[in-house]
Amino acid sequence: MKAYKSKDDLLIGKTILITGAGDGIGKSLAIESAKLGATVILLGKTLSKLESVYDSIEALNKAQASILPLDLQGATEQHYIDLADTIKREYGHLDALVHNASQLGILGPFEQIPQDMWDNVMQVNVNAPFLLTKSLLPLLQQAPHASIIFTTSGVGNKGRAYWGAYCVSKFATEGMMQLLADEYENSTLRFNAINPGATRTAMRASAYPAEDKDALKTAFEILPSYLYLLGDDSIHVQGQRINAQ
Ligand code: NAP
Repeated sequence: MKAYKSKDDLLIGKTILITGAGDGIGKSLAIESAKLGATVILLGKTLSKLESVYDSIEALNKAQASILPLDLQGATEQHYIDLADTIKREYGHLDALVHNASQLGILGPFEQIPQDMWDNVMQVNVNAPFLLTKSLLPLLQQAPHASIIFTTSGVGNKGRAYWGAYCVSKFATEGMMQLLADEYENSTLRFNAINPGATRTAMRASAYPAEDKDALKTAFEILPSYLYLLGDDSIHVQGQRINAQ
């Protein structure tokens, strides 16, 4: 899958919602998906970043993207219900959902984890994907084949000292993906998770401020596994944890 080569028309006719689409991996995935024909719904926190991605997609002269500004930190279940209604009204269906946005929180010893930081990380990394998936399931079920992609991490299936709330949230992410894959085994929905591996983004820089950034893969370079899971070549792939590198 790391070497997956997508056809130029892989995502034509597909509507894809990406969270955290304003920066890092989400931004690169949004632009690349649009290049391959997808209509991309850009969800994120900072409007100016989303507008910049929107403009990059406009410049491609492909399907028009749309912007959904939402701070996952403060969003309530009603926000997700309203969001699902909006997508249903505007597009009528949804072919893919990429849970990409995450908070790293503060790395450090377990006994010093502040509860508010723990709660914030869980809210964005676990509660938001739970509520977003729940609200969009009826719409995703209307697509011929829908792909739901969760984003895990190297600390999502093996605990690592000092990775605190982020580590626990990624275990929960993988648990949610596995539970859904099992529950919807005999359906048109598929649920999988990608571990991007070390990638040159703002989040990586805040976790490893001293490392040589030029030695890391760029967000564009790690996209083949995402594109594989978004396109119809993966319609029988269910419940997998895929390393993008
Ligand atoms: P990033 O550059 O920090 O981008 C994260 C994106 O999520 C940003 O667009 C950010 O929006 C958005 N976001 C954060 N909090 C949000 C909130 N409360 N509401 C809405 N959007 C929010 O991170 P990245 O490195 O691309 O990470 C993408 C995914 O890959 C994450 O799930 C991360 O855990 C995972 N991952 C990354 C690496 C790596 O090496 N980079 C390795 C393993 C896993 P703003 O910019 O507006 O804040």
